[in-house]
Amino acid sequence: MRSRPKVAFFDFTGCEGCQLNKLNLEDHLLDILEQVDLVEFREAMDETAESYDIAFIEGSLSTPSCIERIHDIRRRTRILVALGACAATGGINALKNIHPIDDVRETVYGSEKYRFPTLPALPVSAVVQVDYEINGCPMSLPEFLNVFKALLMNKTPDIPDAAVCVECKLRENECLYDRGMVCLGPITRGGCEAICPSFGQFCTGCRGLVSDPNRQAMLDILTDHGLSLNDAKKRLLLFNSHSLNPSSGLTH
Ligand code: SF4
Ligand code: SF4
Ligand code: SF4
Repeated sequence: MRSRPKVAFFDFTGCEGCQLNKLNLEDHLLDILEQVDLVEFREAMDETAESYDIAFIEGSLSTPSCIERIHDIRRRTRILVALGACAATGGINALKNIHPIDDVRETVYGSEKYRFPTLPALPVSAVVQVDYEINGCPMSLPEFLNVFKALLMNKTPDIPDAAVCVECKLRENECLYDRGMVCLGPITRGGCEAICPSFGQFCTGCRGLVSDPNRQAMLDILTDHGLSLNDAKKRLLLFNSHSLNPSSGLTH
């Protein structure tokens, strides 16, 4: 009999919200777990294994030990999936990278600032090859299920790349710009069914950028609708500090 795929979940630097979110899948998760051998999942079990078919990674890489550990996992897994904004894009953690590292250390650890080793917060793909990314802060549960099921059926998962605005328009929402708000939907990768604008909340860009974002046009829209250039840049950097690197001019 063919053995069931070995699946593992690992957490790095993040709030563990994506992993805890998975535990809320309840019935769906139980159906999937019948098809796999869950060999590592710190939030739910203690078992470990030498190798994996699918390793899901939550969190960004922000210490020397994170780098060592992700190389080890990459060596031992056939498919590696980055789960959630921290792992896929560096997420909110990467805000750290746009400040002098000594200031960051002092803010967090005060007089103990040199006690703990630290690095810029990186998405997993900055260090090892990532096969698929599931975006969002936290990651979207329906998207996680779709990707997981596709991988178990040896299919290529469908990873969305259209802007949030596309899904927002399909839901026939009134645009929040017409209600006096500003929104990052035009350059943010969809896949969340435009959940925030659908409930009257502007998009903060948690799913990262579409593949070919027009950053300058987005900045122009934000400033044309009342934000100062500085506030517009801050808005863009909230979830995109890694991809909008200093050469983009956004961190000056
Ligand atoms: S992506 Fe968001 S919810 Fe997931 S670990 Fe990072 S901060 Fe937490
Ligand atoms: S509310 Fe935001 S996501 Fe929706 S159409 Fe307007 S800009 Fe796009
Ligand atoms: S609408 Fe924007 S902030 Fe809200 S979940 Fe989607 S990408 Fe994230």
